[in-house]
Amino acid sequence: MTAQLSNRFATELPELAVAWQAEQTPDPKVLVLNDLLAAELGLDAASLRTADGVGLLTGTSVPPNATPVAQAYAGHQFGGYSPRLGDGRALLMGELTDREGRLLDLHLKGSGRTPFSRGGDGFAAVGPMLREYVISEAMHALGVPTTRSLAVVATGRDVRRETMLPGAVLARVASSHLRVGTFQYVASTRDLELLRRLTDHAIERHHPGAARAENPYRALFEAVVEAQADLVARWMLVGFVHGVMNTDNVTISGETIDYGPCAFIEAYDPGAVYSSIDVEGRYAYGNQAAIAQWNLARFAESLLPLFADDQDTGVELAMESLGTFAPRYATTYAAGLRAKLGLPEGLEDAVAAELGEELLALLHSNHVDWTSGFRALGSAARGDAEPFRGLFIELAAIDEWLSRWQAVGPDPAAMDRANPVHIPRNHLVEEALEAATTGDLGPVQQLLQVVQRPFEERPGLERYAAPAPEDFGRYVTYC
Ligand code: AMP
Ligand code: MG
Ligand code: MG
Repeated sequence: MTAQLSNRFATELPELAVAWQAEQTPDPKVLVLNDLLAAELGLDAASLRTADGVGLLTGTSVPPNATPVAQAYAGHQFGGYSPRLGDGRALLMGELTDREGRLLDLHLKGSGRTPFSRGGDGFAAVGPMLREYVISEAMHALGVPTTRSLAVVATGRDVRRETMLPGAVLARVASSHLRVGTFQYVASTRDLELLRRLTDHAIERHHPGAARAENPYRALFEAVVEAQADLVARWMLVGFVHGVMNTDNVTISGETIDYGPCAFIEAYDPGAVYSSIDVEGRYAYGNQAAIAQWNLARFAESLLPLFADDQDTGVELAMESLGTFAPRYATTYAAGLRAKLGLPEGLEDAVAAELGEELLALLHSNHVDWTSGFRALGSAARGDAEPFRGLFIELAAIDEWLSRWQAVGPDPAAMDRANPVHIPRNHLVEEALEAATTGDLGPVQQLLQVVQRPFEERPGLERYAAPAPEDFGRYVTYC
């Protein structure tokens, strides 16, 4: 297995990197491997399945010159600050260069204890690692920026949760693992040279254009504000609830990271919460934009000494830049909603906004499934409104809305490109993970086939397009 791994993070930011090695795996078995992603990375999928390749995917064999490290970071968790989190069960193996010359982190999750583990065991169970694999690959296929999943390897070691569960390591690929929490950690050291070095590293990796700006650090901040505003707007458009938007789970790249207690909404409801620990609904579906802004304010605080020499000017600049979040988010969301409604380009923004808001209100009051509701609206644009109308109780109201919407001439083909048929529905994910935990990978493979081509209606897959049956009950997720 010849994988060329660089160690730029480890060498440029040694203060944030603890050289470490993965725990041995008693009986490793590849459960899923992403052949297409491997090819994009210039890795030979067949070699990744050999003992040496599996060693790379679990961190038990380290390529020459590579320096696996646990990364240090801090973070606000549910609003409370933890000065030292870090990779408690993860390792950065190093950076790969993909076929297009992009530098990407190869990162492992579930690879054993590190100096950041605190009370944790450093391990991960098969179910949650496959869950991250399925959902991140679905998000990618839906066009949402995300970390990618290269493989899940069962370790042959059981891990203790509520019961004993089979253990696994996820090999994840990301444009980096720099987070808001990384900057918070460095800011708290008050080492200005290190903060500058970290920020220059982030600019070079993610927003090289910022280096040419009059104030590169502020330009980086604005680029991250923009990337996060776009990201959260895309989450909202596909009905994704991240569930744990702590500042250590907010990337500088603008990729979705950390698929712990996340879920997709079914009935449209801004108050939707799935995580068992989010008792106050801090990270509810409809709160995500506000929370992203709060997290970016924490990022700005960390960068403040770089914005200006005096603090008052720095704060003023930060506030002004943070102010770009709301309009950017609104623009991206509005454009996405226009696409979902198939609205023609020439239609006035005010008319589009009104149509959108009224439909959302009706979806909410009629408990309409977000994903299949929009897909059915596409059929209505083709002249078959019955499947869509059938989702509503307030028929007079939806008919009135439909006639105004029809009158603007929605484009059904464009709608089919914007409205997925398939998302990783909560009940399908659970069913597949349950089977995998007892050794049957069939349902996971089948679900992957479905969600990797989310816009395609395929015969025989109707079950994968329908909301959960009544008896699935209320969905609760765990970290
Ligand atoms: P998360 O909520 O997934 O973002 O994780 C928050 C922190 O808990 C991070 O520092 C993780 O590395 C750490 N952590 C989560 N699970 C474990 C575990 N099983 N063992 C050690 N650390 C963990
Ligand atoms: Mg995390
Ligand atoms: Mg997590």
